[in-house]
Amino acid sequence: LTQRLQAAMGKLRKKGKVTEADVTEMMREIRLALLEADVNLQVVKQFTKEVRTRALGTEVLESLSPAQQIVKIVDEELTKTLGSEAVGLEKSPKIPTVIMMAGLQGAGKTTFAGKLANQLIKNEKARPLMIAGDVYRPAAIDQLKVLGQQLNVPVFDMGTDVSPVEIVRQGMEQARENKNDYVLIDTAGRLHIDETLMDELKQIKEIAQPNEILLVVDAMTGQDAVNVAQSFNEQLGITGVVITKLDGDTRGGAALSIRAVTGAPIKFIGSGEKLTDLEIFHPDRMSSRILGMGDMLTLIEKAQQDYDEKKAEELARKMKENSFDFNDFIEQLDQVMGMGPIEDILKMIPGMSQMPGIENVKVDPKDVERKKAMVYSMTLAERENPDLLNPSRRRRIAAGSGNSVVEVNRMIKQFKESRKMMQQMSKGSMPAGMDQMFG
Ligand code: GDP
Ligand code: MG
Repeated sequence: LTQRLQAAMGKLRKKGKVTEADVTEMMREIRLALLEADVNLQVVKQFTKEVRTRALGTEVLESLSPAQQIVKIVDEELTKTLGSEAVGLEKSPKIPTVIMMAGLQGAGKTTFAGKLANQLIKNEKARPLMIAGDVYRPAAIDQLKVLGQQLNVPVFDMGTDVSPVEIVRQGMEQARENKNDYVLIDTAGRLHIDETLMDELKQIKEIAQPNEILLVVDAMTGQDAVNVAQSFNEQLGITGVVITKLDGDTRGGAALSIRAVTGAPIKFIGSGEKLTDLEIFHPDRMSSRILGMGDMLTLIEKAQQDYDEKKAEELARKMKENSFDFNDFIEQLDQVMGMGPIEDILKMIPGMSQMPGIENVKVDPKDVERKKAMVYSMTLAERENPDLLNPSRRRRIAAGSGNSVVEVNRMIKQFKESRKMMQQMSKGSMPAGMDQMFG
């Protein structure tokens, strides 16, 4: 989606004045781009109609920079189609707030339950209870229990012999007794929507009276996700949508259609398998992500989540004073690896997605390990004071870490370059070759 839209807009940007024919051509490109990205046909029609009407309006044709105006309109309309504003969780006036998951098998319900519990604990020191309502696969209960252990969140389960409806009934009772502030109900999914599944979900809904029924859909299923969303909404009534697996290639197609077709707000997106890979859905950010303008805010939030604040402050100070040393370097490498694939992170930086060759940027975890090995072969004094690293010390480090001196030299050079770059950054200017920082 992104590439095609960018190409179309690039063409327009070069023009000073836009004619009706230009707008028509642009609309054709947009239409194709959206259809290619699995956006529902009705949604595409509606969307292009609105953009076209606005683009042909006097505000554009008579403005000084019509191309920019059109980009702005596309951005605004995309944002509108995606729901305009971020919508938070609906909360119950008295505890517990009950959140029920729904969706097909493998969509990411159980994972999302864990991620949400994690976020609630972090953000509001919540005390959630998770209910294991998927009794058809023993592994599903274990999966939830493992998450519960990791998060230190109780999981209510009664094995696989009791009906999910009964489990939910008793689980709700326990939550009330224990005064849990949230109840997260994990449910079963099928490979396809069927009566039995829907009936069961309806009964659970009846018993639990959830504040939220969140439909979890897999972004990779494209157009199919839209059909699924539509029938869940018709039969069960959903209050919100979670789109998972929006990591890797950013196909916003499903997101665009689901919101438009169901009217239910997209509340969260899953961007990876880890518990921290959960983002609040921001329509405007998604729109600029689709348009390739980069999504700096999400990037920053993501970094912050993984970052201990104090460490960040100290790092900022060190960057400014240029006293960043190899211990920090290691920490930073770990930090960066922990944030997920570098390729994805780079793509979120404005302008980066247009850089030639960005698709080929890959960070090799083995390379990171090699660098770490070299640092571990340094003495403490050397780590704190890189200027000590004379040729004989470098030879020792090479031998100690199983690398060649050339590699050690390269690593030290890279370290010094990134240190310089960070100093520049901390003074507020964006360095030229940020990608070099990662080798
Ligand atoms: P469920 O059957 O709906 O409960 O789905 P699960 O929670 O068991 O998830 C199915 C698979 O999708 C698991 O391998 C998860 O690790 C994976 N998964 C879930 N959410 C995401 C996501 O946001 N990104 C990626 N890459 N994988 C995910
Ligand atoms: Mg599950």
